[in-house]
Amino acid sequence: MTPAEQAKLDSVIGQIVAANRILGNEGVCDAYGHISHRHPLDPTKLLLSRSRSPELVEPDDIMTIDFDGKPVDGRTDPMYFERFIHCGIYETRPDINCVVHSHARGVLAFTISDVKLVPVIHTGASCGCDIPVWDIETNFGATNLLVANQAQGRDLAKALGTDGRVALMRGHGFAAAGRTLSEALRIAIYLPQNAQVQMEAMQLGGRFKALTAGEMEVREAAGPDGSDIARAMQYWARRANCEHYLTYKRSA
Ligand SMILES: [Zn+2]
Repeated sequence: MTPAEQAKLDSVIGQIVAANRILGNEGVCDAYGHISHRHPLDPTKLLLSRSRSPELVEPDDIMTIDFDGKPVDGRTDPMYFERFIHCGIYETRPDINCVVHSHARGVLAFTISDVKLVPVIHTGASCGCDIPVWDIETNFGATNLLVANQAQGRDLAKALGTDGRVALMRGHGFAAAGRTLSEALRIAIYLPQNAQVQMEAMQLGGRFKALTAGEMEVREAAGPDGSDIARAMQYWARRANCEHYLTYKRSA
């Protein structure tokens, strides 16, 4: 690996570690849930922590895994059971570079209801127009609801379609797919907030208004890192006390 390649890899590892800490600190992930990034030097691999709670992840926890869910860096650490969520999405969607899986409390009711979760607040626009619910029972019968193999990961990825950003997982949580790490983070952080607001509006008893298609288009035109995302990254990282990982460099 050249020094430039090493620097590129270190930078992405630092970003993933920061993103893990942020997801823990913002309450999107607790003991469970994870975030991965497509490998910056080999698009057929991904970077994902060994099996560890996001808030505790360190640079040395980051493993390189192929789309079969196998480590390719010689490591034998226990891995996340549900790494196939990430494998399936990267394999199916070349435009996606960062994936989050979460069991965030705020979205769970929408995973088991026929009331559709839709973007209702401006920060929810990154979640995309259509937020499908993927039900593992449909193609796999009775399971423990976890995405435990390649076939299940690919089936979940299919629910995202060709341009979806989020799939809810029935009785379980959600998978969010970002073109960039900050886009994936923004979706994962604001999706539960959007769900909460929609739920509250419905409890008011009247009709509620979702974002319009035109509003979604205007938001989308800003690109994956629009809406002053650098400011948000700095804020989230400072709150999680992990700003230093945003400029991470492995010591020689
Ligand atoms: Zn899960």
